[in-house]
Amino acid sequence: IVPYRNRREHLERFVPHLSRHLEKQKLNFQILLVEQLDTLPFNRAALLNAGVQFCQDQCDAFCFHDVDLFPETAAYRCGTQPLNLISLTIQERTLQHKEVDQHYFGGVTMISKDQFFQINGFSNRFWGWGLEDDNFLFRCLYSGLQPCRMMTSTYLELSHVPALKSDIHGNPATRKELNRNRRVLRRGRSYQSRIKRGLHDPWNDGIKELTVSLIDMDPLEGVQRVGVDFSGLGRSV
Ligand code: UDP
Ligand code: MN
Repeated sequence: IVPYRNRREHLERFVPHLSRHLEKQKLNFQILLVEQLDTLPFNRAALLNAGVQFCQDQCDAFCFHDVDLFPETAAYRCGTQPLNLISLTIQERTLQHKEVDQHYFGGVTMISKDQFFQINGFSNRFWGWGLEDDNFLFRCLYSGLQPCRMMTSTYLELSHVPALKSDIHGNPATRKELNRNRRVLRRGRSYQSRIKRGLHDPWNDGIKELTVSLIDMDPLEGVQRVGVDFSGLGRSV
């Protein structure tokens, strides 16, 4: 399940690369794009919830996959616990190698369907860039799961204007847009902090609470695609 908006150049290369990689492993898979159609800040986690709502009946495990991470070595196998697949990244532009932070749980993650529903999926309340992956890790730990990391994987990471510094089209943000991005991030930080301090119940915010219609769309780059428009949700997420 790939969260998506305006990253066409990445997508063009991502689809053949990932398909080939998974075919070599003889896996039974289907790539699903979940595209955000509105002009609100990007909501990666809610898009992933929507993707699960769309395909849950055909799957027993999910892989949440950013469009700009290309596996070099990585075995896509869902174990008995939530798994983050990234251990080493190579920046495409600089070839800089970087081991990911111990607590990083974004990028590429796998989880069984049972466990995903046990933690009520992702929070829907992280808009814009950042923290939705930390929150997902928190949800796993808080419900007694034992999230782990695959230690032997390498991913090529494509470059782009950092989301925090770009507008919704991926172009460099104006000062006004930059301020909006920062404001949205501050709101997410404060929500996350209230949850961690026990001041907010995390469980009434998840896949169960996401009531959004999924819009059938033509495939993009040969990949099945659903559209999501969050603008009708008002204050419910
Ligand atoms: N994404 C997207 N369009 C956006 C922002 C994010 O398609 O405007 C998707 C895309 O799959 C991307 C992922 O969300 O790889 C994570 O966002 P981003 O790459 O900006 O985060 P990073 O990990 O680079 O900080
Ligand atoms: Mn990225």
